[in-house]
Amino acid sequence: MTTPNYISWNPWHGCTKISAGCKYCYVYRQDMRYSGVSSSQCRKTKAFDAPVRRKRDGSYKIPPRSIIFTCFTSDFLLSDADGWREDCWKMIRERKDCYFSFFTKRIDRLADCLPPDWGEGYDNVLIGCTVENQDRADYRLPIFLSLPIKHRSIIAAPLLEQLDLSPYLDERIEEVSAGGESGNNARPCRYEWITALHSQCTERNIPFHFHQTGANFIKDGRAYRIPRKHQHSQARRAGLDFRIGKGLVPETADYDFDEDNAVQLEFDV
Ligand code: SF4
Repeated sequence: MTTPNYISWNPWHGCTKISAGCKYCYVYRQDMRYSGVSSSQCRKTKAFDAPVRRKRDGSYKIPPRSIIFTCFTSDFLLSDADGWREDCWKMIRERKDCYFSFFTKRIDRLADCLPPDWGEGYDNVLIGCTVENQDRADYRLPIFLSLPIKHRSIIAAPLLEQLDLSPYLDERIEEVSAGGESGNNARPCRYEWITALHSQCTERNIPFHFHQTGANFIKDGRAYRIPRKHQHSQARRAGLDFRIGKGLVPETADYDFDEDNAVQLEFDV
C-alpha cells in the first residue's frame, strides 16, 4: 500500500468571523503579517481548479489517493462563495479517486449548499464540524448529526473551555480532534480540557486526536508559552491519541511534557 499524498486546496481565500473561535483567526493573522491586508474580503484563488488540472500526458497533476485538505484559508460554506461552490462539487465528484476533507463553523448552512446528487453523502468527503465552546457545540452538533454525511469528525479547536461532547458521541463520529489556539494572543488551553475529551471518546471507543497544544498551554497549574514549531510535537508527546494512525495508541497516565521546548511564563495559574 502506498502512502497517500497530502494536498492543500484553497479554491477561495478570506472569510468572515462568525463566533468566539474566530477571534484570532490564523488566516487574518497570516494575511496581516505577510500582506498587511484584512482577510474579510473573500476572493477566488488561482488554485480554484487544481483538483482537475492535468499534465501533458493527460493524467491529473494531483495523483490518485491524495487526501485533499479543502478550504483551510476560508470556510467551504461561506455565503460569499455560494456562486463558486457548485463547480467545486463537480471537481470533487470527478476526483472520486481522492479524499476531500473540510472543516466548517457554518454547518447550519450545509443543507442549503449541497449538490443535487448528494444523497446520503459522497463517499470521498469528510466534513469536520468545528466547536470551540459548549454553546457552539450544543448549537452545531445536533445539526451536524441530523444531516446526511458519510464521514464526520468533530474539531474541538481552538478549545476555549471544558466541553461535554458525550451527548453527541456515537458511531457516526469518526474522530474527535482537539487543540489549543496558536498566535501571540492565544487564549489559554488547559490540559484537563483535553483529557476530559479524551475520556469521553475512549469510553465510547471513538478515535481521539490531540493535534496541537496551542501557544498558551496550562498544565498542573503552570502556564507555558509553546513556540509554534513545537505545538504539534508537544501534543503528540502527551500520548493521548486513541485509535489514530496505525491502530491503537497506548494511553499513558503520565504526560511526558518536554519542558526544554516550552517557555514557562512568570506566573502560576
Ligand atoms: S470560520 Fe475559520 S477561517 Fe473563517 S474567520 Fe472563523 S476561524 Fe477564520
